[in-house]
Amino acid sequence: MTVPLLDLKAQFDEIADDIRAAIDAVLESQQFILGPVVGDFEHAVASYCGVAHAVGVSSGTDAILASLMAIGIGPGDEVITTPYTFFSTAGCISRLCARPVFVDIDPRTFNIDPAKIERAVTDKTKAIIPVHLFGQCAEMDPVLEIARKHRLRVIEDAAQAIGAKYKGRDAGCMGDLGCFSFFPSKNLGGFGDGGMVVTNDPELAETVRMLRAHGSKPKYYHSIIGGNFRLDALQAAILRVKLRHLNSWTEGRRRNAALYDELLAELPVVTPHIEQHNFSIYNQYVIRVEERDRLRSFLKDKGVGTEIYYPLPLHMQKCYEHLGYHQGDFPEAEKAAADSLAIPIYPELTDEQQRYVASQIASFFQNRASSP
Ligand SMILES: *Cc1c(COP(=O)(O)O)cnc(C)c1O
Repeated sequence: MTVPLLDLKAQFDEIADDIRAAIDAVLESQQFILGPVVGDFEHAVASYCGVAHAVGVSSGTDAILASLMAIGIGPGDEVITTPYTFFSTAGCISRLCARPVFVDIDPRTFNIDPAKIERAVTDKTKAIIPVHLFGQCAEMDPVLEIARKHRLRVIEDAAQAIGAKYKGRDAGCMGDLGCFSFFPSKNLGGFGDGGMVVTNDPELAETVRMLRAHGSKPKYYHSIIGGNFRLDALQAAILRVKLRHLNSWTEGRRRNAALYDELLAELPVVTPHIEQHNFSIYNQYVIRVEERDRLRSFLKDKGVGTEIYYPLPLHMQKCYEHLGYHQGDFPEAEKAAADSLAIPIYPELTDEQQRYVASQIASFFQNRASSP
């Protein structure tokens, strides 16, 4: 049996007719950049999340970049975030000539440890970017409390967390700005790149709207310097169709997670810890295991796809040597990079496939036990 890490074709087959009709409508209109289709999708996302404003942009990365630009981040500023995330969270800070300041993670959730944030605040700190990793929200109450106390902005990197909840509040809608990604492997994935900035602040929303079109309003009159961060109509049309299925896909992922929790319970692996007050959308199901690399290649031989999110924490990346961090600075992030493994969790996964994955993991440990 083969079980890929993700099977986008299975998802596409279920909705192909609706997607083709939506694409066709855009082709007939020949309006490809922004326009009413993007506007409709923005409204749909805003109402899905219960937030006042949603601004479609070209990627999750550009959502973060435009959000940082909207709050005026620039040279000399410091922005606190986690070293255990996709690169773009920190990369966007650096691109604005500001400095990413890392804070270690809580090993149970992989998210930024709020107890360690305050000691990283300096008089240069302007913002915090908590990342809701793998579909589970970071611990937002203490993050927001520290931000209030020190007058910092909060940008949520919710690229992996659309539809996730923290104490009943929606991912992306708790801080000043929230960033979604529609990269194909995200829970709501386009047929290319796409992203969204959400906010309840009308001024920030307007600024992001201007920034995505080179800071212009009206056209050809530039009061600020922005970029080309626009979402295109084809992606918006596809995503609008897919959004209608998002809740049922989330339920599928949650059902699969519950089955894995059960099937893996007796094995020497740590299954995901989801806080009681969190509703995870399981963008990834990440287990922790000693001998992670051996297990990974064993599963590969058995036809099971896995991935390592992320093999090298950001403070140890070559491009960040100049920040002056060292190995050992963020031990929990370093440990997670060494022992975490994402296994297939996509909604279309069958019961049989999941049982196969679990039984192969079990047989890995049986083989280890019986060989010296
Ligand atoms: C995917 C991702 C991004 C970037 O999104 P893109 O759409 O690929 O630019 C940023 N942060 C996190 C945590 C992500 O997972």
